[in-house]
Amino acid sequence: MHKLILLATALLSLTGLAHAEYQPQAEKVVDNVYAIVGPLGQRSLENDGLNANFGFIVTPQGVILIDSGASRLGAEKLAATIRAVTEQPVRWVINTGSQDHRWLGNDFFASRGAEIIALARTAATQSLYAEQHLEGLNRFLAGRMAGTKPLPATKVPATDKPTLTLGGETLELAYTDAHFPGDAQVWLPKSGVMFSGDLVYVDRILGVLPWSSVKNGQKAFHALAALNPTFIVPGHGRVCDLAQAKRETGDYYDFLADKIGAAAREMESMEATLNRYADLPAFRHLENYAGLHRANMNRAFTEFEAAP
Ligand SMILES: [Zn+2]
Repeated sequence: MHKLILLATALLSLTGLAHAEYQPQAEKVVDNVYAIVGPLGQRSLENDGLNANFGFIVTPQGVILIDSGASRLGAEKLAATIRAVTEQPVRWVINTGSQDHRWLGNDFFASRGAEIIALARTAATQSLYAEQHLEGLNRFLAGRMAGTKPLPATKVPATDKPTLTLGGETLELAYTDAHFPGDAQVWLPKSGVMFSGDLVYVDRILGVLPWSSVKNGQKAFHALAALNPTFIVPGHGRVCDLAQAKRETGDYYDFLADKIGAAAREMESMEATLNRYADLPAFRHLENYAGLHRANMNRAFTEFEAAP
């Protein structure tokens, strides 16, 4: 397998990507289920916006890819990573979200015959944010965005909690609506693997954005925990177990909702509340803590203030 990965990397170099340093690697989670764990840092020319996690499931009827990368070049890198593991073509792409790296590679895989699947609100949010995300990405990736065409998911299941099957593999989709509206998770009951999308972050602290929902995050994490997954492929960070996901994401959502949310509900001062919880030993080892923790609390406070 390593030889094949080297070969794939060499081929990419020959096709003009010689200066691209980051080539994603497949990592077996269990049986036929693989994770592609991206770097924790920012989008860059070197990583082609693949600074998130992806995954794939190899079945006798083709590959199911979870999320498609941030650009055409990023999608090509993911395709090379899959090819190092299996000859099977990518039959399905399932998007867990509408943030750039979750879906801007859709067009590449669709042009090679894959069906692009997402829940209705995920697909709608992709359309809504497409322009904004392309603009944002152009600032990081500039010329490496060439050939990238936003293609929102074209196959939308009729229900909010569909069960899909391909090649003997069963996948259960459900909304999490935490980091972005319409974010979703993909659960594989047979192998006990959860692709959480951006609901779960480990190794780095999760980010609460202006359009994120701490309330939804808390609720969705508890629902995820109730499924008792053996392996979690988080949105960012290394593949983990439920205990780690709880320590680094679930407990943080609980803190934001139960402590910050409660203070907002009781109309305490935001400033004093943020100061009181400025230093949290349970989370300060996580990457990006210094940069994000206060802003996260601020947004949580605002959410609970607006809708207690
Ligand atoms: Zn993300």
